[in-house]
Amino acid sequence: MSAVPAPDRSTDARPGTPGTLRVALLGCGVVGSEVARALIEHADDLAARAGAHLDLVGIAVRDTSRPRDGVGTVIPAELLTDDAGALVDSADLVVELMGGIEPARGLIRRAIEGGASVVTANKALLAEHGPELFEAADDAGVDLSFEAAVAGAIPIVRPVRESLAGDQVRRVLGIVNGTTNYVLDQMTTHGAELEDAVKEAQALGYAEADPTADVEGFDAAAKAAILASLAFHTRVRLDQVAREGITAITPADVVAARLTGHVVKLLAIAERTAEGVSVRVHPALVPGDHPLAAVRGAFNAVFVEADGAGPLMFYGQGAGGRPTASAVLGDLVSAARDRLVGGKGPRESAYASLPVLPADAAVTRYQVRLAVADRPGALAQVAGVLADHGVSIDTMRQAPDEPYATDVAEGRAAVLLTTHAAREASLAATVDALQRTDRVHEITSVLRVEGV
Ligand code: NAP
Repeated sequence: MSAVPAPDRSTDARPGTPGTLRVALLGCGVVGSEVARALIEHADDLAARAGAHLDLVGIAVRDTSRPRDGVGTVIPAELLTDDAGALVDSADLVVELMGGIEPARGLIRRAIEGGASVVTANKALLAEHGPELFEAADDAGVDLSFEAAVAGAIPIVRPVRESLAGDQVRRVLGIVNGTTNYVLDQMTTHGAELEDAVKEAQALGYAEADPTADVEGFDAAAKAAILASLAFHTRVRLDQVAREGITAITPADVVAARLTGHVVKLLAIAERTAEGVSVRVHPALVPGDHPLAAVRGAFNAVFVEADGAGPLMFYGQGAGGRPTASAVLGDLVSAARDRLVGGKGPRESAYASLPVLPADAAVTRYQVRLAVADRPGALAQVAGVLADHGVSIDTMRQAPDEPYATDVAEGRAAVLLTTHAAREASLAATVDALQRTDRVHEITSVLRVEGV
């Protein structure tokens, strides 16, 4: 372990004077190593843009002895330390790229309370403890920036928070998890089974050994909470995000979607209604001509609808060391500039404090696949149940040889219907009632239709 030098405030940059700002990096993994590399390799450019030299004074890791790419060559080995607390105390700017809740939360608080500005990419931490940390940053008059926490390299936090500050955002639809987009894209373009596509994503380094956070929608839910909070000036907690992953999606769902002109995507949705804010993550059918339908592979995109601006689309790489480091470094240069002028960047804006609606209040369209008895009267019974629950049918098709009917048993007929917009609660009651009728054998799948 190398010693962390004591802070030398005599070298601090002052408004209008060239100087040095001390940068502490917490983490030297996928993203941290790229940030370190850029701080060293592009030191002159960054100094010119920030207005002060950004001096990397230390990098906190768990294990300083582990061999690491670039350390000992580009990145001096003596920068590594396992004393993250002392490193934080020595810095003007702290970049947290450790991930997880603790010790990241405690170290960020320590940095803020010590007067340092903080840049983080930690969506999980912000979705759970954002308000506490933003309040601490406001009290201390320092920046807490997090562009990289949502959709990696894609500038979305700044556009929503600053460029659209004069507009009214109505809806945000995001493909914010590259792993699940890759998996669904493989299922769509190659007819792959979900498990095979997940394995392929793991082999390519898109998915973790344990893919739960991605495929169950936890990662996207944390980003949805952050996006909704920004878009609607309302604090949205992670536990207020309705979440459903992609594990129930089958090749037959993908084929049925295509038949009606849609593709299946995992969407993070934040929507403002007359009653409040609906925030949810779930697989959804997106019309084939919607810009989000064209987002392929592991790419991310965020589609924003605002009253004045109309539709806006932000597209790019949502993960990876260098792309994510790009967003981190942008925040770092901004935080440095703010310090030099003696101010801070935008504060957290939660003034609207809109109610966050329960999951069953969401209003959307649905595509439902059913297996019914292959005898007269089945369709009439299905239509009757929907009508009884106030859910109106947009389209309904039934044929024994439908290409998506591979999972329907002999002697049964596959039915594919789409509804007009209905409340989640009404649809749930409808599905329940359908299951109790004598002619419906199985509700094969229920998928929401979004982006229309
Ligand atoms: P990573 O590769 O796992 O690296 C984490 C680093 O933090 C490692 O260097 C690790 O030290 C260090 N660390 C972890 N716990 C520590 C502790 N208790 N004390 C000291 N050091 C500790 O993570 P990553 O992929 O770079 O992600 C970092 C952050 O960026 C996360 O919040 C993640 O959600 C976010 N992010 C990542 C991506 C991406 O594409 N990877 C994209 C967007 C956002 P050792 O090396 O010694 O283990």
